[in-house]
Amino acid sequence: MSSDTTKAPDFTATVGGTARIGANRELKRAVEGYWKGQTDRSSLEAVAASLRGETSRQLRDAGFDSVPVNTFSYYDQMLDTAIMLGALAPRFAAVEDDLDRYFAAARGTAELTPLEMTKWFDTNYHYLVPELSAQTQFSLDATKVLAEYAEAANLGVAARPVVIGPITFLALAKSTDDTDPLGRIDDLLPVYEELLGALAQAGAEWVQIDEPVLVTDIIGDDAETSTAAEVAGSVYARLSAAAQRPALFVNTYFGDPGADVLAAVAGTGVEAIGVDLVYGSADTVAAVPALADKLLVAGVVNGRNIWRTDLDKALATLGTLLGSARAVAVSTSCSTLHVPYSLAPETELDDNLRGWLAFAAEKFAEVATLAAALHRGRDTVADAFEASAAALATRATDPRVHVDAVRERLAAITDDQLSRGESAGRLAAQQDRLGLPLLPTTTIGSYPQTSAIRNARAALRKGEIDEAEYNSRMRAEIDAVITLQEELGLDVLVHGEPERNDMVQYFAEQLDGFFATQNGWVQSYGTRCVRPPILFGDVVRQAPMTVDWITYAQSKTEKPVKGMLTGPVTILAWSFVRDDQPEKDSANQIALAIRDETVDLEAAGIGIIQVDEPALRELLPLRDADKPAYLRWAVDAFRLSTAGIEDTTQIHTHLCYSEFGEVIGAIADLDADVTSIEAARSAMEVLDDLNAIGFANGVGPGVYDIHSPRVPSTDEITASLQAALKAVPAQRLWVNPDCGLKTRGNEEVTASLRNLVEAAKAVRPAA
Ligand code: GLN
Ligand code: ZN
Repeated sequence: MSSDTTKAPDFTATVGGTARIGANRELKRAVEGYWKGQTDRSSLEAVAASLRGETSRQLRDAGFDSVPVNTFSYYDQMLDTAIMLGALAPRFAAVEDDLDRYFAAARGTAELTPLEMTKWFDTNYHYLVPELSAQTQFSLDATKVLAEYAEAANLGVAARPVVIGPITFLALAKSTDDTDPLGRIDDLLPVYEELLGALAQAGAEWVQIDEPVLVTDIIGDDAETSTAAEVAGSVYARLSAAAQRPALFVNTYFGDPGADVLAAVAGTGVEAIGVDLVYGSADTVAAVPALADKLLVAGVVNGRNIWRTDLDKALATLGTLLGSARAVAVSTSCSTLHVPYSLAPETELDDNLRGWLAFAAEKFAEVATLAAALHRGRDTVADAFEASAAALATRATDPRVHVDAVRERLAAITDDQLSRGESAGRLAAQQDRLGLPLLPTTTIGSYPQTSAIRNARAALRKGEIDEAEYNSRMRAEIDAVITLQEELGLDVLVHGEPERNDMVQYFAEQLDGFFATQNGWVQSYGTRCVRPPILFGDVVRQAPMTVDWITYAQSKTEKPVKGMLTGPVTILAWSFVRDDQPEKDSANQIALAIRDETVDLEAAGIGIIQVDEPALRELLPLRDADKPAYLRWAVDAFRLSTAGIEDTTQIHTHLCYSEFGEVIGAIADLDADVTSIEAARSAMEVLDDLNAIGFANGVGPGVYDIHSPRVPSTDEITASLQAALKAVPAQRLWVNPDCGLKTRGNEEVTASLRNLVEAAKAVRPAA
């Protein structure tokens, strides 16, 4: 079926894509320097080029006979794709310089709102959402992809340009005029055809077209639209019929495309198809006879978690595929964008733990080893197989991985442990104890992380101050925050979280079973990187984690101080998790530790405890059929965390989004006494959503948006509260900002909260 121009040689070992921020976050520093005017454009470009060159050479030297390029990005690959397709939202045209225009779309300017950002499938990476309308005129700008191809080709690398595919691009874009983005597919395909021609002309033998959306239920969710299989079949029939093109490698990842979709793509003239065999299944491949004349790119090495691959198991999987395809290449399940660069800088790892892990560099070696075993025989790499098996062997027997006491407690969890008393009675008992006014005012937990706080933390890390000095500085911060809140007249106070570097890492550092890396940075979005903890063993809380801080804060005031904890789902969502037990078990282990902490806080006299679950929605599975089971265990883990206390202790939770969509029922099922939730940006709509499902507990819709430095006026907050009171009776309404205040400055926080308290007072008498 291939045309004459596409007789590209099959490759045997590759990776779907890589990280680009730099092993030591070089790109972050260069880009941020450029934003501040400290780095000029040519130095920024030099850093970028050197990072790209390093990556290409690293992959070539790892033994890959096909190397992805165009996987670099100054900010985000969806933004790059929008530009490549001439589909950047028109408002940015006002910015003359192309690089500044690019960053304006990413971050906004004084005049221009940036593109919206949202989660990339079920990863912790966030992409910029392209905006499309009926007016969008697609046109090709292949500058970046051609330049990156030529750059790598010049290094003597077998470069394979990677682009996001037309189906995924459209399915993830948003419409600004209610037209269906996917309805533009016929206008978009000529641009991809032109791109294929340009790449072929430049000498590219292969092009990788990423279509991760094919493993979701996003396309074809109603009877009128085409199914994902229909769309995929017609798009790739057309692109593979392009007059001049490289060989086409259509890559799917993050899950299983299903036999229908796979068969539809395999029924076209594309030369290679990629499947994720970690989160998808080899059975699907076996069920598609049409793969017989394709190169199957088998993602057997997990690209998004950090565990060492069981090489013999992966080789066995690869063996079963041989009969299903013309040839099999070894790859990662997805881009290694989602894992740290290398284990080399992790000097604090003990030998056992080091042996169980594989970051990107180690994964490249695994791919090469598996490709050698598959194509030249296991004997040729027997040493690597044995070393790997030996390293993994200790994982099953290490006493930190299986702690009997934890296992016993987990096995003994009963339904009783998941429920508190009936909610109306609870709220009444709590009100008796707390005696709060109507529309109580509070904040979400953190206060500005000042430079004094950051300096103290750095000084402690460098050994310049000792633990006692650090604690006394943190206590001084707590004193200041308590004083401020009393002056402002808030009703329920917080300690301000000065001691927390991060709401997940803080707990992970204190719980056995977690390891915090030194340099395990992963891009979250743009130049923002996170260092997710690694959950490798059974979770044990050796001692209370927050009680000293909270009771100290409480000792400074007569007003109630809220205990502040992170919930089990969020801790799990923002960590690398175990792959040797169901996520549900990991969640429940964390839940038991949090439960113990709530019991200790209660015993220490704390009357209100907040358990944050901003990531509840983030772990939603990609397939609709898997969602109910997830929501069940997620809700149960939260309830296990929070149901160990008396009815007179009030549980708050905080969620960081306002469009509940698929999690609305779950939020009610959490059964928190009070739920604070982002609402300012969606005009309190969330309250109607809650009413629609009969939600009857306390709710604190955020009355102002903390994502901007703007100080909301008293009138504005008053108006929000009046709007909220139309949906929620005063007895259940709380008054609070949208989220924590840690990223804001002291001045704006003080001014904003002063207005918030004033607005609550203004609305109370009428309520
Ligand atoms: N309690 C946390 C804070 O105030 C909540 C943060 C969050 O919602 N992401 O910072
Ligand atoms: Zn929040």
